[in-house]
Amino acid sequence: MKDFKQIQKWLAEADAVIVTAGNGFAQMEGLDMFEDAAFPIEYQAVSKKYHVKTIADALDKNFDSWDEKWQFWSQLINEYSVEYEPSKAMKQLKELLNGKNYFIATSAFGHFFETAGFEQEKIFDVFGDWTRMQCSSGLNHGTYSDLSVVKRYINGQGEIPRCEDCDSPMEIHMPLNAHFFPDEDANTRFRWFLTRNQTKKVVVLELGVDPTSPQLLDPMVKLVEQFKDWHYVAADLSQDELPDNIQKRSAGLRMALPEVIEKISKNEG
Ligand SMILES: [Zn+2]
Repeated sequence: MKDFKQIQKWLAEADAVIVTAGNGFAQMEGLDMFEDAAFPIEYQAVSKKYHVKTIADALDKNFDSWDEKWQFWSQLINEYSVEYEPSKAMKQLKELLNGKNYFIATSAFGHFFETAGFEQEKIFDVFGDWTRMQCSSGLNHGTYSDLSVVKRYINGQGEIPRCEDCDSPMEIHMPLNAHFFPDEDANTRFRWFLTRNQTKKVVVLELGVDPTSPQLLDPMVKLVEQFKDWHYVAADLSQDELPDNIQKRSAGLRMALPEVIEKISKNEG
């Protein structure tokens, strides 16, 4: 069903809106982890030395030194997050959620929603946020902004950041190894949001979620199956791919994200 008037009605009547934003959303905002044409040119040294063709490959590699890691991370963070400007669709989404009771769960780690002005306490960065750093010791010594580190590296005066507690090198706050600590406060806020709205009218808006972030896919569909006043609006699934028992209160659009956001926004209706 591609009845956008109906979707607009669900949104207008919703007590709460939950946005799940995945890899496709990050791509829309300029960060494509799996792009393999520009990366080998733009990041030639890293690409050649470590035989990697994408950001995803490169982040997975264990570089020879912390200095090399931070040099590379700084370049990425600077390009994709420091210099980031929200897309038109991102601004429309902000407009759409303005004044609404919403929560965003995203696997996009580029700090996009925060930069676009969504409320920090309404965002859960499931895969972390690379503008923050954590201790590499394996112990949870908290997270800190790494933007001043990035700035120094970009200016050619980089220095490996060290943990205030144990002096281990710091690393970007992403699940690159077994000792990634998700933001527990944000996770708790998200869980509470789900619990609090079980019996309310809720729209779950899936934007660019794919199997690279499974925790944002099936568990959310299961919740919609469970709670009868919840709706599932999926940008990436077709109507056929949605479970039978939620067909009538869901929409599988399988359309490009900017188009979805434009069409469900009331003014554009
Ligand atoms: Zn430490």
